[in-house]
Amino acid sequence: MSDRTDDPARAGDERRDLRADCGNCAGLCCVAPAFAASADFAVDKPAEQPCHNLLDDFRCGIHADLRERGFPGCAVFDCFGAGQHVTQVTFDGRSWRDTPEIASSMFTTFAVMRQLREILWYLTEALALLPECPLREELDHARRRTERLTDADAEELATVDAAAYRQEISPLLTRVSETMRAEVGDRASDRRGAELIEAKLRGAKLRGASLRGSYLLGADLRGADLHRTDLLGADLRAADLRGALLEGSLFLTQPQIEAAKGDAATTIPPALTRPAHWPTSTAPERTSSRPHRRRRR
Ligand code: SF4
Repeated sequence: MSDRTDDPARAGDERRDLRADCGNCAGLCCVAPAFAASADFAVDKPAEQPCHNLLDDFRCGIHADLRERGFPGCAVFDCFGAGQHVTQVTFDGRSWRDTPEIASSMFTTFAVMRQLREILWYLTEALALLPECPLREELDHARRRTERLTDADAEELATVDAAAYRQEISPLLTRVSETMRAEVGDRASDRRGAELIEAKLRGAKLRGASLRGSYLLGADLRGADLHRTDLLGADLRAADLRGALLEGSLFLTQPQIEAAKGDAATTIPPALTRPAHWPTSTAPERTSSRPHRRRRR
């Protein structure tokens, strides 16, 4: 029997467990990946070298000013709880700093875990949203399988091809999306993977459309209706979501809305948190920043 979450509050809690808990992490995202200086990250940083802003206790020395200091990429990042899981579960509370011989393995594990936890987010979201139907059993199986993988030891995790696993799960998520969107009357046309950079979509009715993997950098989506719109992997950096209706959208994540602009009138799914940098008023902003395009991770 499936364990569909009918209680929205509980569904939100399950997904909240798939969010970063930096206080229980060894600062893995601040060490493991390499960064090239860009609009998102102010300096070059080689892989497996700590960011110069990382403190001895693994806190970020400029956390309160990341955007102002040229590190907006860090402000929007969320590891889906991979950091604390690798630190506390896979490596039993040890850290690359205290035990240097595990450092390389820890960083490799983090890269795999981040992808697995993101997949787990989508599967959990799908189970929370999808009504009773045969697809739920497959979803439940996929979620349990993914959970088991995240609990494997470092040696086994090192053998996981996370990109291939993502490809394997993707058709299942596509079927969920199609099922959910089929319920929408007068659906907007699909624009999966579309180049919509700085597109003028103010007030657009995008209900039930697939915008999966689309490039919406800097797009004007003010007041757009995104009910049951599939936004999995859509690049929303600097997109203007003021007044947009995102509450019933599909597969929207915290990093996506953190990278976008919104306001008090923007509605978001209950499992997400309203970004702290969004103004609490609905007054129009005068400036618009042109985002730099980059490859999606
Ligand atoms: S890896 Fe995740 S939990 Fe760890 S510091 Fe980065 S965001 Fe926080």
